[in-house]
Amino acid sequence: MGDYELLCLDGWEYVPENYTLSCGNGHGGLLRTVYSKKRLDIANHGGVFRFYDWLPVHSVINTESAPIAFKNEELSKELGLSDLWIGFTGYYPERGAKVKSCTFKEMEALPTFARLRDCGGGTIIVASAGNTARAFAQTANDIGNDCVIVVPKKSYDRLKITEDRGFARLYTVDGDYADAIRMADRVTALMGYVPEGGAKNVARRDGMGTVMLEGAVTMGALPDYYFQGVGSGTGGISAWEASMRLIGDGRFGDRLPKLCLAQNAPFTPMAKAWNQGRRNITDEDLGDAEKDVAEVYADVLTNRKPPYSVKGGVFDAMSACGGEFLEVTNAEAKEAEKLWMSFEDVRPDPAASVALASLIKAVNDGKVNRGSKIFLNMTGGGLERAVKECNMKAVAVAEELRFDMSDDEIRGIMNA
Ligand SMILES: *Cc1c(COP(=O)(O)O)cnc(C)c1O
Repeated sequence: MGDYELLCLDGWEYVPENYTLSCGNGHGGLLRTVYSKKRLDIANHGGVFRFYDWLPVHSVINTESAPIAFKNEELSKELGLSDLWIGFTGYYPERGAKVKSCTFKEMEALPTFARLRDCGGGTIIVASAGNTARAFAQTANDIGNDCVIVVPKKSYDRLKITEDRGFARLYTVDGDYADAIRMADRVTALMGYVPEGGAKNVARRDGMGTVMLEGAVTMGALPDYYFQGVGSGTGGISAWEASMRLIGDGRFGDRLPKLCLAQNAPFTPMAKAWNQGRRNITDEDLGDAEKDVAEVYADVLTNRKPPYSVKGGVFDAMSACGGEFLEVTNAEAKEAEKLWMSFEDVRPDPAASVALASLIKAVNDGKVNRGSKIFLNMTGGGLERAVKECNMKAVAVAEELRFDMSDDEIRGIMNA
């Protein structure tokens, strides 16, 4: 039985377990799950639910989706590393990875839907232009739970899933990601849908944390270094939280892995703030956001309001482990991708290529010891192959939502 409590990191007190994104006492800090089981036993459930002990769920969803961890000796040799391990979440059947939406966002979606079921069910709403939308759309469709997705008009054709059964309803908005969020907030207020919640969603974080769990179980120990490309940094927070639990288990070592998080230049607000020792992100760190965001290769890494300063957020995670923030150019990411493709048979998500590039950079700059145990989180990959081999098709747009529509008009559309 996955038993847990939710701890408010601001008030340092427990809050009742139901679908909660904050403690309700006016605190802004993240909630964190505290599991009654301190020792991780691998459960007899499929996919990511093998980590049931440390997922905030009672329900289990039938799935094959899970992260994998492996070594590639040729790549290790090329980089001159003797103990490099790769975490991979995506579609890569030869290696046993069957995540059809092709990124670790599906590890977030699965426990989120399971937890929603525990808490009485409902319709989830997600404002996303990319990988989060695909993960939620695929999972909603697989399990038959309604999900509303609001995306900027220009990016709807990227939302491809397998065997569309109509449970993911896609709405477009004229504008950018910020407009999609604004519209999703309005729809949520009108319809009482359940917001996915981002970094505040404990199911999201502990789901993403399963990559670290899979790595530690496969390696038999916590790594010395953890590399990941970040936009919100939620994956970094999750890796830190999973590491603390693994230390508490006692079998995986007693030192936190050093988080080495990478952003894609020219949009690198967290890297800039961290490297200047600041807990807050300034306008200067954000730069010419609109222009810079448009330039980066890995556009999933362009979150403008990351959970960096919040209690229990990225700054705290990095402080706890003496972490390192790296900046990677498009050229470096593409070069790293080429290298990966010479050893593996699936194309990485650009964000994963950024992670690999940051590892190469850190090695070249002498920031990591070549003999260290290194865990590289390849957060996504295999989408081109999944689209072909799993016959993925674009989700049809249900309707365009406009800001000049009345509340009644929007209600009418959502109830249609
Ligand atoms: C979302 C995403 C990331 C960044 O995740 P964070 O929330 O910043 O930790 C990295 N890689 C892929 C493939 C993603 O979809």
